[in-house]
Amino acid sequence: MSELKTDAFWMPFTPNRTFKAAPRLVESAEGIYLTEKDTGRQIIDATAGLWCSNAGHCRTEIADAIHQQAGKLDYSSIFNFGHELGFAYADRLVKHTPDGLDHVFFGNSGSEAVESALKIALQYQRARGKGTRTMFIGREKGYHGVNFGGISVGGIAPNYQTFGQPVKANHLRHTLDIERNAFSRGLPEQGVELAEDLERLVAFHGADQIAAVIIEPFAGAGGVILPPKGYLKRIREICDRHDLVLIFDEVITGWGRTGSAFASVEWDVTPDMITSAKGITNATVPMGAVFVQDEIYNTVMDAAPEGMVEFFHGYTYSAHPVACAAGMATLDIYEREGLLTRAGGDIGRHWENALHGLADLEQVIDVRNYGLVGAIELRAPDNLKGKFGGKVSALAWEAGVMARGIGDALCMSPPLIIEEHQIDELMQKLRGVIKDL
Ligand code: PMP
Repeated sequence: MSELKTDAFWMPFTPNRTFKAAPRLVESAEGIYLTEKDTGRQIIDATAGLWCSNAGHCRTEIADAIHQQAGKLDYSSIFNFGHELGFAYADRLVKHTPDGLDHVFFGNSGSEAVESALKIALQYQRARGKGTRTMFIGREKGYHGVNFGGISVGGIAPNYQTFGQPVKANHLRHTLDIERNAFSRGLPEQGVELAEDLERLVAFHGADQIAAVIIEPFAGAGGVILPPKGYLKRIREICDRHDLVLIFDEVITGWGRTGSAFASVEWDVTPDMITSAKGITNATVPMGAVFVQDEIYNTVMDAAPEGMVEFFHGYTYSAHPVACAAGMATLDIYEREGLLTRAGGDIGRHWENALHGLADLEQVIDVRNYGLVGAIELRAPDNLKGKFGGKVSALAWEAGVMARGIGDALCMSPPLIIEEHQIDELMQKLRGVIKDL
């Protein structure tokens, strides 16, 4: 390997010293494949990057749009003036959201989308005279990014142990129940009653303290935890009963992952806000968004005196023109190639069958899937419990597959363009890796 200076770059979410002792580098990518630097090996990107390169890597059309926009209007502030593309893009995005979520607030990442959504909820509660509603309900194992609001509503232990809980929140129980739901195909049958945990938290804190409930329709970074049948509907009903704002964090579940543009559409439960990022630009240029329901938008608008800023929040790069151009070109591809619904068709069924085809391996204790997402839960040796997934993911890389280790599971969310024979190739490789454990 040519001399690589690794000291300056403080890598995120990575054991820096271990990585830097033996860096694994990717040189290029195309379609569902990554090319490893130095070896030139083709690696199947079974996670679409980080659940985000939904239309596959290095789509020329998106690259061209980025290039053209950077040469035409590379940047313009959108504080007090605007550019046409931002409005046109927002207008086009909301054609894909559930009915009534017709407004978009832009940021640059999932974390910023979450932070913006939490602040919109606070602003809304104040605007309608319910300013005592300042805390949030999230869920154990929930992941909502790394900013102070997101780590507080999220349910990821190391965040608490390192940074505490800067924003007041409490958490619903998570819904992973391997004993009752092992090897479910699609949504698990057991566990709808876990939604009642929200009633417990409302009774404990009082509805007049709670600004919003935020959950991922399925928890991604928590290990692909699918909602039991009826669970999300029950959560919606309880929110309605207590007048709570419901936010779905669809940073992973959005843009075709489940077989619909959004999981809210797929599972027919409409939240009051949806956070989005990742696949929104096919991960080419950072972009985050919050989709906001009409009543929230209108209440916030009407509460401020004419001429005053209604929502004191925003980013230098909100609706960045280059990100909007990338997003427009991404939508062109999603719409033209039918990618937003593809996971719900034959390819999703093939994925399900192929994934469950590994169930005969004695090391596999659960397989869960929906659309084009899935997880294989492995029987971990005692000394590696809770971190076996990471070990197996390293072995998978050696075998030519990028899969994400979370706890003792291997998690995958391949690009939505994946073909049947590529799924077969992927499973064959994983079978070899798991069999040899
Ligand atoms: N919400 C969810 C559900 C996510 O999965 C993620 C990222 N994995 C985020 C928020 C944070 O997104 P970002 O890393 O772009 O800040």
